Amino acid sequence: MHVITTVTEVQEACRKARRPLGLVPTMGALHEGQLSLVRRARQENATVVASIFVNPLQFGPDEDLATYPRTPERDLALLEEAGTDLVFAPPPEEVYPQGFVTAVEVKGPALHLEGHVRPHHFQGVATVVTKLLCATLPDLAYFGRKDAQQVAVVRRMIRDLDIQATLVVLPTVREPDGLAMSSRNAYLSASERAAAPVLFRALEAARSLYQQGERRRGPLEEACRRVLEREPLVRTIDYVALVDPDDFTPVEDLGDGSGVLAAALHIGTTHLIDNVCVGAEAPQVLPHGTL
Ligand code: AMP
Repeated sequence: MHVITTVTEVQEACRKARRPLGLVPTMGALHEGQLSLVRRARQENATVVASIFVNPLQFGPDEDLATYPRTPERDLALLEEAGTDLVFAPPPEEVYPQGFVTAVEVKGPALHLEGHVRPHHFQGVATVVTKLLCATLPDLAYFGRKDAQQVAVVRRMIRDLDIQATLVVLPTVREPDGLAMSSRNAYLSASERAAAPVLFRALEAARSLYQQGERRRGPLEEACRRVLEREPLVRTIDYVALVDPDDFTPVEDLGDGSGVLAAALHIGTTHLIDNVCVGAEAPQVLPHGTL
């Protein structure tokens, strides 16, 4: 496994690499969620590139950039074990050198939910993902459904900019108690960690109402909120929303179609997000351990 820290070197390595080439962008502090993407990329590509970059552009001024968990040595060992060929782990000044003034702004799906709570977040995501796609020119790029809105933003951007990469979206990997794996789970105290699965339980409560025949946004969102409101450690419910999976606008009545039920909350100072698919083609979640 090669570890590369400069853009020029990663461009050159990817130009020479055997195809197909799969890219897995990450912010490190790896867990089974991101590693599931690497493993899938390994099955489907001759060359697997993973990036580790805590992207300052996607953090707001009052967010957790400084404290975001960083475990570089452990990450490299895990990536090697998962069969990665190239790791691109640049310092911030390599990605955003002096004079950098360009931003990629996606509207549409970036305007709602997380885009509302974190105003510059998706512009930061779109800019860095564009840079990673341009530097590595992957055939396939792997993303997790855990960040369903990010997937919608990147999908729209790839279409709009005619980027020649195929997006591969993989299911959310969960802890045995249902909590979606996330690097931010490390922030939770023991009591917060014990409370955190309420997010998935709440989404599942709405999904079970869907399975009983409910298709309207109001009752489905309400079912989710009711569960969240019963948990005293939930400090704020940032949103609960039934949305269209492509443009993330609200869906009033699902009918025969499918949607994403997305929710975000703060437990203490930790921002947690999760979502489930509801409707026709709702894919199964992939449990890690037994759910
Ligand atoms: P991150 O390092 O948190 O930016 O995540 C890197 C990639 O891994 C993104 O495409 C995420 O959607 C994906 N990912 C993060 N957590 C999970 C999870 N629990 N299950 C599946 N994919 C995940």
